[in-house]
Amino acid sequence: MASPVAIAAQAGKLLREQALRPRLLAVRSQAGHLTSRRWLNLQEYQSKKLMSEHGVRVQRFFVASTAKEALEAAKRLNAKEIVVKAQILAGGRGKGVFNSGLKGGVHLTKDPKVVGQLAQQMIGYNLATKQTPKEGVKVNKVMVAEALDISRETYLAILMDRSYNGPVIVGSPQGGVDIEEVAANNPELIFKEQIDIFEGIKDSQAQRMAENLGFLGPLKHQAADQIKKLYHLFLKIDATQVEVNPFGETPEGQVVCFDAKINFDDNAEFRQKDIFAMDDKSENEPIENEAARYDLKYIGLDGNIACFVNGAGLAMATCDIIFLNGGKPANFLDLGGGVKESQVYQAFKLLTSDPKVEAILVNIFGGIVNCAIIANGITKACRELELKVPLVVRLEGTNVQEAQKILQSSGLPITPAKDLEDAAKKAVASVAKK
Ligand code: GDP
Ligand code: MN
Repeated sequence: MASPVAIAAQAGKLLREQALRPRLLAVRSQAGHLTSRRWLNLQEYQSKKLMSEHGVRVQRFFVASTAKEALEAAKRLNAKEIVVKAQILAGGRGKGVFNSGLKGGVHLTKDPKVVGQLAQQMIGYNLATKQTPKEGVKVNKVMVAEALDISRETYLAILMDRSYNGPVIVGSPQGGVDIEEVAANNPELIFKEQIDIFEGIKDSQAQRMAENLGFLGPLKHQAADQIKKLYHLFLKIDATQVEVNPFGETPEGQVVCFDAKINFDDNAEFRQKDIFAMDDKSENEPIENEAARYDLKYIGLDGNIACFVNGAGLAMATCDIIFLNGGKPANFLDLGGGVKESQVYQAFKLLTSDPKVEAILVNIFGGIVNCAIIANGITKACRELELKVPLVVRLEGTNVQEAQKILQSSGLPITPAKDLEDAAKKAVASVAKK
């Protein structure tokens, strides 16, 4: 069994990776290679809406897209104190910095006017945190919530954990801070409960976690109740992760989820339509959105060889072989199954719009895919886009002879490859020559 530290570290790693590539995620395996995975992430305000609909306690809040709306929201809340929170998918906002000069993505104030001023310095600016790229992420919305006093901050997360083949609840009485630091420095303060997905969460497990988090007396029952509700939410919405940090207590004796981060299993999209409709995609790379418009999957990487493939397995294999031959992929474009010629053209357009790209490797294994369609799309794209970089093509499978003929008779400078190894060698060599 994995140790609590390993779980927490793994959880932290997962959380950070998801934050860094919130939309179309390239998870690097230990070998440094890739598998691709797209996760839906929601903003805090969206996650909290789901939580409150399932009986989980969150603060009253409104969402604002302008400073004026933020001011109005603050007045409407009519609270003793208000907290303004920048909405981006990455964590660590509290200690983040805006390119407007404002420090901190989470601010407390008693004055609604100040809420408006804070929102003015948040909305439209980039917020950089430990979990974002250097330049930060643009803030389009702020959450304006009733602030509550916090007497204690704990950490709580529920995740689908591969090593347990099921859900695990991870908690620490040391919350509000970076959980990876706790896992590294105070591993004894990380607790876990493995849940049997068929039996569900037991009262004793929820109580034990509440106790481990340091909730005492009546607070223990309240915390256990919140933990159970969070678990039911986790299952019902097909989440891969629900993270609450801080999972706090107030001096008045209430257990409250002060922050929320929920990720979803994209395979559940068909039965979670309402949730997936909440996805505003505003933090996507524009190129990812563009690819999605044509039913293509795009993953940006940091090398210089563009890869044009069909299927995730072939993408991984292509990546491995490029690495093995001393090259680095610039991106992946996965064409998927039932391909149309127009998609091939769009795919090329997207691949070549990336200035890092110095060569293109096409690796298509035609099962359902008809290679002739690919070949026609490639030649059309080469002509119309006036391709400036070397193009290495490996086609195999359905109708491949016809496809080879189309490429050969095109008169275009296309380098054919007999297999994947050959293709990778030729692509790497074409870049090295420069
Ligand atoms: P993060 O920095 O992105 O994780 O954002 P959080 O929502 O966790 O907020 C950062 C920190 O601000 C929390 O750890 C709390 O210490 C503090 N905070 C957030 N909301 C409130 C609130 O309503 N009242 C008080 N007193 N502190 C808050
Ligand atoms: Mn937090």
